Amino acid sequence: MTLLAGPALDVSRGAAARRAALTQLAHAAAHLGLDDGIHEMLATPRRSLTVAVPLRREDGSQTVLTGYRVQHNLSRGPAKGGIRFHPATDLDEVTALAMWMTWKCALVGIPYGGAKGGVAVDPGSLTRLELERVTRRYASEILPLIGPDKDIPAPDVGTDEQTMAWIMDTFSVTAGYSVPGVVTGKPVSIGGSQGRAGATSRGVTLTVLAALTRHGVPVEGRRVAVQGFGKVGALAAQYLAEAGCRVVAVCDVTGGRHRESGLNVAPMVAAAAQGVPVAEMTDGDPLTAEELLEVDVDVLVPAALEGVVTAANADRIRARLVVEGANGPTTPEADAILAARGCVVVPDILANAGGVVVSYLEWVQNLQAYSWSENEVAHRLQDLLKRAFDDVAHLADERGLTLRQAAHVIGVGRVAQAHLQRGLYP
Ligand code: GLU
Repeated sequence: MTLLAGPALDVSRGAAARRAALTQLAHAAAHLGLDDGIHEMLATPRRSLTVAVPLRREDGSQTVLTGYRVQHNLSRGPAKGGIRFHPATDLDEVTALAMWMTWKCALVGIPYGGAKGGVAVDPGSLTRLELERVTRRYASEILPLIGPDKDIPAPDVGTDEQTMAWIMDTFSVTAGYSVPGVVTGKPVSIGGSQGRAGATSRGVTLTVLAALTRHGVPVEGRRVAVQGFGKVGALAAQYLAEAGCRVVAVCDVTGGRHRESGLNVAPMVAAAAQGVPVAEMTDGDPLTAEELLEVDVDVLVPAALEGVVTAANADRIRARLVVEGANGPTTPEADAILAARGCVVVPDILANAGGVVVSYLEWVQNLQAYSWSENEVAHRLQDLLKRAFDDVAHLADERGLTLRQAAHVIGVGRVAQAHLQRGLYP
């Protein structure tokens, strides 16, 4: 059938991500023995919206940005997924990310379908007022699609709790009353959950520890490199250091720092929160983002963007364990190379699911108009992730699959089952 895209002739990040997502789906569909009809359903997003986002800049000039919201699947519940502000975001990328959200929510057993949105813009090039205008105009353009029962956005690359507050406000003002459950990852003051800010990083840390334990490797002193020092990478580095790992290298888009005896991570995280780029930090020695991938470590955590571990560098990765904090950091070709070399990859839809799990807990609290303690949230997160990790590890062992293949077989299988049980209307 034609659902498997051909070789990667198009080099855009989005096209490569979409191709990777379709390749992973095709493998899971074949393993599950799904027929072509259901495979095509799962390969096709339910709704894709492209919107113009006109912006009046503070200097009086005007420009038109492009925004997207893709709802990939709605069979298991409302659509769920983040909103990305990045200059290279396009419809292909948002579609791939929406598909990954569908499998992720199914894998961790939360009642959502998958979605993703984005605006092709560099948020760093906008003033705060311009950023607010872009966010509110984009929110008003996608308003017909979103709502607590329909589609619930959250932060992703280039967006944060302030972005969510503006979207929540835009939606609520239009509705005429406060609707906290329309977004997750909001500030706690307007219905955000305790523990949401660090949730993805907590989840990454829990999966690193679970994977080390599964292979009988002690946590204490394990050398870790983290690529990406934003919302996910910085706190993952900190939590891993707190858990006893030796974080020897970190980087962001500006560059990285390396010290074999271990970086002093907490002050670097505090500096990053003040906007200091990693290249300007002084701990350790400088290294490039490419060099970071090849540092001699036990664990590599790619926590930036898609398509960074490729056929061109997979051979040089020395980590025995790759834990994907980002969505889609490893291409299918690199996956095969790593697997052949005995490198274990804990896939994105498991490793970074902590974010959407606590988003779910936030939404449940909003729907009940109630709030839980940080401890309660942390326990529920740990339970859901542990169950998902055990399911994946068990299936991988039983069927001789990689962890990514097993995670997709479980996620895709649950969504296929929902489709089959609901039936096709009309
Ligand atoms: N953007 C995050 C992800 O890729 C979180 C999505 C959410 O919380 O809805 O999983």
